[in-house]
Amino acid sequence: IRPSGTSAMPTAPDTVSPSSPTGKRPLLSAILPMYNEAGNLARLFERLEGVLGRLRMDYEIICIDDGSRDGTFEALLFHRLRNPRIKPVRLSRNFGKEAAMAAGLERAAGAAVVLLDSDLQHPPELIEAMVAHWRDGAEMVYARRTSRDTDGWLRRTLTRAYYRLYRALSEVDLPPGAGDFRLLDRRVVDAIIAMPERRRFLKGMMAWVGFRQVAIPYEPEARHAGSSTWNFWRLFTLAFDGLASFTTLPLRIWSVIGLFVALVAMAYGGVIAVRTLVYGVDVPGYASLMVATLFLGGVQLICLGVLGDYLGRVFEEVKRRPVYLVAEAAGFGEAEQTAAK
Ligand code: UDP
Ligand code: MG
Repeated sequence: IRPSGTSAMPTAPDTVSPSSPTGKRPLLSAILPMYNEAGNLARLFERLEGVLGRLRMDYEIICIDDGSRDGTFEALLFHRLRNPRIKPVRLSRNFGKEAAMAAGLERAAGAAVVLLDSDLQHPPELIEAMVAHWRDGAEMVYARRTSRDTDGWLRRTLTRAYYRLYRALSEVDLPPGAGDFRLLDRRVVDAIIAMPERRRFLKGMMAWVGFRQVAIPYEPEARHAGSSTWNFWRLFTLAFDGLASFTTLPLRIWSVIGLFVALVAMAYGGVIAVRTLVYGVDVPGYASLMVATLFLGGVQLICLGVLGDYLGRVFEEVKRRPVYLVAEAAGFGEAEQTAAK
């Protein structure tokens, strides 16, 4: 079907499915980050397995339990009894969606990998169209949401403003409406795994790597069960991570602002000198003095904060801590049953 040199599939004992005794069909890996999604699993697997079963491919469903406290992992083990192509991985605590996706990407063996949310906001049926594009030679197929009606007004507005800012500042081109719901070719997965950064912003990384990309529009569904864990602070952190990972402009802009402020201050100094010479000593100068001092103090504090953030980032990268820790996993052969990565 696809003359890809990368289709060497390491087949763990249980990836050989009864429906393909030869194991010759290419493997598709679905990666699902899960944080307290127990209530969605039955419906999710029903739809997902239906779709994946229709493709002329083998598949594995890698479920990363990101430190759930509602029995998601136990439920996954239960589903695995029914379908051994479901492979649960339990992280040792909640590391966040970006880390969970990284854990999945590093474990996926497929010639193509699909990332999707576990709350059914990303309709699994779209995978068929994604695979069709992939068979036609696309190396990345991303789903572009045509509406954000499932988000609140405030989140929608802020998100839109953020992406506008992002496109203006950063050198990577984030396509509007594109999220983490994507199919990646093996080559793209390898490229992303090879990126060593600890603070991850997968959306930016996926845009940065390039490759032949195709978009397909979709309408996100409402969350099936449970509630979104993305509060304002988490989104803000992700947003800043995303910007800081792909632009150093916040660091560099201060030299421009500093220069501008210094020039204005110099001109003002000249004005004061002339005024003093012409009109004599100018006593009521407190207002302008305070304004200038406070303004410069503020600028300096912002500047320090920005420097501190980037320095913190460097510190974090230098420590080389792992992005996540695995507590247990099933379906990946002996090596990973207990070992922490
Ligand atoms: N998720 C995760 N770890 C987290 C938070 C979320 O793995 O710390 C998963 C979650 O289970 C879901 C996906 O990331 O599959 C998207 O999360 P959510 O639906 O809460 O966010 P939203 O759809 O509102 O962006
Ligand atoms: Mg969601």
